[in-house]
Amino acid sequence: MKRLHIGFDDTDSKDGMCTTYVGAVVIDRLIEMGAKIIDYPRLIRLNPNWILKTRGNCAIAIEVEVEDDLIVKIKNMVLDTVEKLAELDYETTNPGVVFLESKNIPEELRAFSRKVIQDIVTIDEAEELAKKIGAEFFKFKIGRGIIGALAAIGERLEEDFTYELIAYRVPSNRGKERRIDRESVFKMNELTYPITFDNIDPYTNEIRITPHTPCPILYGIRAENPFIAEKAHRMVKAFEPIERWVIYKTNQATDEHIKSAKISDVQPYRSFSIKGEVCEKPRIIAGGHVIFKIKDDSGSIDCAAYEPTRKFREIVMKLAIGDIVRVNGGVKPKPNLPLTINLEKMEVIRLSRILKKLNPICPLCKKRMKSAGKEKGFVCKNCKKKLPKDAITIEEIPRSIKLGVYEVPPRARRHLAKPLSRIL
Ligand code: ATP
Repeated sequence: MKRLHIGFDDTDSKDGMCTTYVGAVVIDRLIEMGAKIIDYPRLIRLNPNWILKTRGNCAIAIEVEVEDDLIVKIKNMVLDTVEKLAELDYETTNPGVVFLESKNIPEELRAFSRKVIQDIVTIDEAEELAKKIGAEFFKFKIGRGIIGALAAIGERLEEDFTYELIAYRVPSNRGKERRIDRESVFKMNELTYPITFDNIDPYTNEIRITPHTPCPILYGIRAENPFIAEKAHRMVKAFEPIERWVIYKTNQATDEHIKSAKISDVQPYRSFSIKGEVCEKPRIIAGGHVIFKIKDDSGSIDCAAYEPTRKFREIVMKLAIGDIVRVNGGVKPKPNLPLTINLEKMEVIRLSRILKKLNPICPLCKKRMKSAGKEKGFVCKNCKKKLPKDAITIEEIPRSIKLGVYEVPPRARRHLAKPLSRIL
């Protein structure tokens, strides 16, 4: 018996296909061939700020135990499936397949996976590593997919992880409007949330389990464990046939893409968690986006809650200079604009006191007094009582935001961002 790790990526285009679907087909074929699949197949989300991703930047890995004489047949089946299903006519589709025959995953490969999830690597780096660890790789066209393929094999999901059950449409329905019973999704959510999550956007009542792209996915149900994912799937009523479904173990909803950093460490196309002090008040800019600035001992940086984050922006607007926050978010450079953290989550750690000078209260009538004129102190309009100018009071304005963690709504959430329902 041999242990074989299979990884692949970069099979889809904006107009169709999805690497998770290729995974589902490969899994069914592996079962038909008599391969023993170890644990759940893995759906690994990679750097969400990577510019060359098609959609959600995911790659697939499957681990199997097989009789020695099946190995070649299995490898050929995987290569054949990827070749037949991948959208090879699209210039940007460059599949890569990696096989690693080993029981253990080398530490270097684990480190590489972390880098692909949090940072950027080159095809050459991936090739070099594959050769070093004795992994076989196959490149279709320029084969950029070997990066994701290797990364998926190396991410073992030994710490935090979740599951996603994905149901696929029959080919004749792909590209058409998805037909599922909304009510059944609400009911499923009522019965299974928060063990399933991101089913519905609570602010807009939008169904979040169905994608809006022409890909083969009918819906995906995210869950803490595979049993509840399957139960939830049975509760959702589809008005169209489901070709097949699969449950993946995944790094979705784990914040694995985020690196703790100081402001001076921030680089474009990565995601960071930064603790800082609000040093410029939030302001609304054209398009309804909210921008504010934070500083730490290494510098200052803009933070943005973009329009699609809706109600989250209202919370951000309540921040004041001096508040201490921890922000999580990705950085994508925009022409002629400074680097900006695109907020995914924000923890309000300490609120500054907002003090305001106010005219004193009349000691007799208990009403707020008026100014008696420049440098002339105060006068009560009612009883004409006078007080000197040093009777001015300093009062604390109550803050309308509470300490705690706030997040963008599900409609604006990245696949990798950990929802509060999984934290609190
Ligand atoms: P889908 O999720 O539907 O499979 P996708 O959004 O994953 O599509 P791909 O078509 O797979 O996008 O394209 C991403 C390509 O970029 C892949 O070839 C992958 O190997 C590569 N890639 C992913 N992350 C990184 C990274 N951090 N650095 C360099 N290359 C990366």
